[in-house]
Amino acid sequence: MNFYTTILGSGAALPTTTRHCSAQVVNVNGFRLLLDCGENTQTQLRVFRQRLQSINHIFITHLHGDHFFGLPGLISSQHLCGRKDPVDIFAPAGIARAMNLLLEVSGSHIGFEIRYHELVHSEGCLPLLENDRCRVSAFALDHSVPAYGYLIEEVSRGTNPARRYAYCSDTGYTEAFLPFIEGVDLLCLECTFGQAFAPIAAEKKHLTAPLAATLAAKAAAGELLLTHISARYRDPAPLLEEASALFPCTAMAADGLVCEVRYTKNRPAPAVGEGLVEAASGGGGCGEGQSVS
Ligand SMILES: [Zn+2]
Ligand SMILES: [Zn+2]
Repeated sequence: MNFYTTILGSGAALPTTTRHCSAQVVNVNGFRLLLDCGENTQTQLRVFRQRLQSINHIFITHLHGDHFFGLPGLISSQHLCGRKDPVDIFAPAGIARAMNLLLEVSGSHIGFEIRYHELVHSEGCLPLLENDRCRVSAFALDHSVPAYGYLIEEVSRGTNPARRYAYCSDTGYTEAFLPFIEGVDLLCLECTFGQAFAPIAAEKKHLTAPLAATLAAKAAAGELLLTHISARYRDPAPLLEEASALFPCTAMAADGLVCEVRYTKNRPAPAVGEGLVEAASGGGGCGEGQSVS
């Protein structure tokens, strides 16, 4: 059974030649979901061999440009390639207005239905989608605009326990959503800054590497994947070091990284500040540049 995420963009607001803006494709036993759609996502889909028309369900965390400016381009290209099947887009309120305006003023006629599901809830974990492969739900984050984290749970088959994956970006430090991600096998958190920029991170409602690691430990996550890396870090090694010191099973996202959601149920959760042997490996669940299609 396959459950993995392919990172298309691991950068923060300012894309670089090596890190594009936020986007990733999650594959749960063959069912695909696009999480965020930063600028250039459609090109990244091609680079990392994900079929354009395989994207039927899109989940946008929030309406900052680095998380959805790729959406009109992706939708237009799906149309140009002859798409007829509908696309479901889950996003904070405002997405339909933004998209309709862009498509209207650009004279774009889209030959398939775009179904918008606008999120307005602020409490609890809201179920959004359920099929024979997975369940997806959303919960509020703490950012400068309404933002949502997504929890993707595999539907358990046979005797295997169901694996769980959570994606939270962007958010400042809050423990409000911990109950919804408790014990996830893989937790993907934004990590825009290192500890040296803690005041800026707090002001802009972003996480630093130590704060991301602290959340992972408090959530008793199996493994942590850091993404949304500020363009100021040409080498993200210091961020990985800062996080690994507090949460050993940590890996750093990179564009093209394929990260499996592994079973971690039987692994005791590392405590904050505990330096375990796995720190050196930086988390072994991820292989860069693997072919996934
Ligand atoms: Zn962002
Ligand atoms: Zn943001």
